[in-house]
This record gives sequence, structure tokens and C-alpha cells, in this order.
Amino acid sequence: QAKRAGGDRIEIFRANMRNERSDRLVLESDLRRSLERNEMKVLFQPIVRLEDRTVAGFEALLRWDHPKLGRIPPATFIPAAEENGFIVNLGVFVLERAAIELAAWQRSLDVEPPIFASVNVSSRQLLRHDLLHDVKTVLARSGVLPGSLKLELTESLVMENPEYAAQMLARIHDLGAGLSLDDFGTGYSALSYLQRFPFDTIKIDQSFVRQIATGQTAILRSIVRMAQELGLAIIAEGAETEADAQALAELGCDYAQGFAFGEPMSMLQARQLVGAAPEAA
Ligand code: C2E
Ligand code: MG
Ligand code: MG
Ligand code: MG
Repeated sequence: QAKRAGGDRIEIFRANMRNERSDRLVLESDLRRSLERNEMKVLFQPIVRLEDRTVAGFEALLRWDHPKLGRIPPATFIPAAEENGFIVNLGVFVLERAAIELAAWQRSLDVEPPIFASVNVSSRQLLRHDLLHDVKTVLARSGVLPGSLKLELTESLVMENPEYAAQMLARIHDLGAGLSLDDFGTGYSALSYLQRFPFDTIKIDQSFVRQIATGQTAILRSIVRMAQELGLAIIAEGAETEADAQALAELGCDYAQGFAFGEPMSMLQARQLVGAAPEAA
């Protein structure tokens, strides 16, 4: 019927559709070639111990430096990569880079507990059984200390298929990887339920940290208390100011991550920050 209606309007519509589709195709083939073209960068954001403000570890965060479009944030390309399956390649890439870097830090720093690195895992990666093999290989090859390479998973990801997730996470945990519950408070937020998963750390979502400025710390306080009772380490995300950092320390958070302590930075900057010897890359 659309065709019969005729007129210029429809031609324009079709032309737009064609453009949109080809844009998507270009981006998709660009994405698939991004790794071989060396366009993907892993940045590291410090996670700081609140009691003494030392760097306890880093979160690895992906960036895509597209030759024409410039730097593309993960929120833009991760969903596309999830959809077309390329997330699996990206996931292995980030895991390897983070583990190699972590091992280098650990070789030149003799601190106890050892410095850690954490890597985000998305749905398609967890559902894919090979994740176990990838984690095992990376742990063995890199030689990182046990428990110091951590995977971050969100509640909603885990709750997509709790039975399967529980099995996978138990096996990943047995391999010697740490497990962090990311963006806590944005999903189902049933810590008691999530207790049956082998998480060692929860990361409180930055939306709760934002509430510090308005004095609404009730939820934050109760999340911290529950996590403490469950024996989980607590990282607050999105600490942007010194006031945030102080309030989080007083509430009993162990660690904080946010612009107050450092933005996601290059591998070299991360090495400088922790005082690790520069090694040939
Ligand atoms: P996330 O895992 O919750 O990572 C924290 C995000 O908060 C990062 O955004 C970080 O740059 C940002 N952030 C850190 N401190 C502050 C702060 O003080 N204030 C504010 N406003 N934001 C802060 P980024 O790097 O854009 O990453 C966004 C999301 O993309 C991540 O959220 C994660 O879910 C996903 N992502 C990033 N890298 C990867 C990856 O390698 N694999 C997968 N599967 N997902 C990734
Ligand atoms: Mg994360
Ligand atoms: Mg997070
Ligand atoms: Mg997030």
C-alpha cells in the first residue's frame, strides 16, 4: 500500500532507509575489523582503598578509536557487539590485555594483598561456555596471582538465567578468578538471593553515590551493612568529589572508584600511578 500511495515522500523515506541500513553495515564491518586494525584500547581506572587512599586495583574499560568517527564509548558499541557476536572477540581481547598488564604490575610491586584488575563480562559471553576456557587460558598464560583477576557482572545479567549463571560462576570461581557484582542497586537488588553466587565484591552503583550530595544516604547505608554481613568487599562507583570519598569511608565502604581518584587512563599512566616499572609492551 505504501508503494501505491506514490509520491516523493516515499522515495525520500526509502533513500533514508537505505542510508541507515548502509551506515549500520559500515559500522558493523568496521567493528569486525577494529581489533585487527588496532583501534580498540583498554583503559584502566584506579580503584582506591579508602582507609589509606592507596591504589588497590583497576577496572579495565574498553574504548574504540574509529578512524573517521573518533573515540566511541562502550555504551555505543558494546550493544552492537553483543548483537552480532563480536563481543566474544572483544571479551577475549580485554581479558588478555588486562591479565598481561596485571601480571606486569604484580612482577614489579610486592604488595599484600596483591593489586587486582577487573574486566566486565556481558550476557553473550557468560552464556557461551567457552568463557571458562578463555578464563582458564588467560590465568595460566599470564601468571597473575590467584583471585587478583576479577570479572564484573551485573545483577540483570545474572538474573537472565540464574540457574545457568550460578553454575558458570561457581566454575569460574573454582578456576581462581574473583567475581564482582557490578552496578548493584539498579536491578533486582536481592543481595540475600545473590548470596548463593560466589561473588566476593559488590560495586554499588553510582546513582547511590550521587545521593550523598543531597544527604540521602539511607539506601547506601543499608546496602553497605548488608554487604558487610555477607562478608563481601564493597566498592562504591562514581566517587567524584572529596566529600563523596569521605562520606563513603565513614559509611564503611572499603574501596571507591571515580573521577575523584582518577579517570580511565592509558596503560602507561596506570603504571606510573602504581609505580610499576615500565616494561617493553
Ligand atoms: P561499568 O562497568 O559500570 O563502568 C563504570 C563506568 O562509569 C565507566 O564508563 C566509567 O568511565 C564511568 N565512571 C567512572 N568513574 C566515574 C565518575 O566518577 N563519574 C561518572 N559519571 N562516571 C564514572 P564507561 O567506560 O563509559 O563504560 C560504560 C559501561 O560499558 C561499563 O559500565 C560497562 O558496563 C561497559 N563496558 C566497558 N568496557 C567493557 C568491556 O570491556 N566489556 C564489556 N562487556 N562491557 C564494557
Ligand atoms: Mg564494571
Ligand atoms: Mg559499574
Ligand atoms: Mg555501569
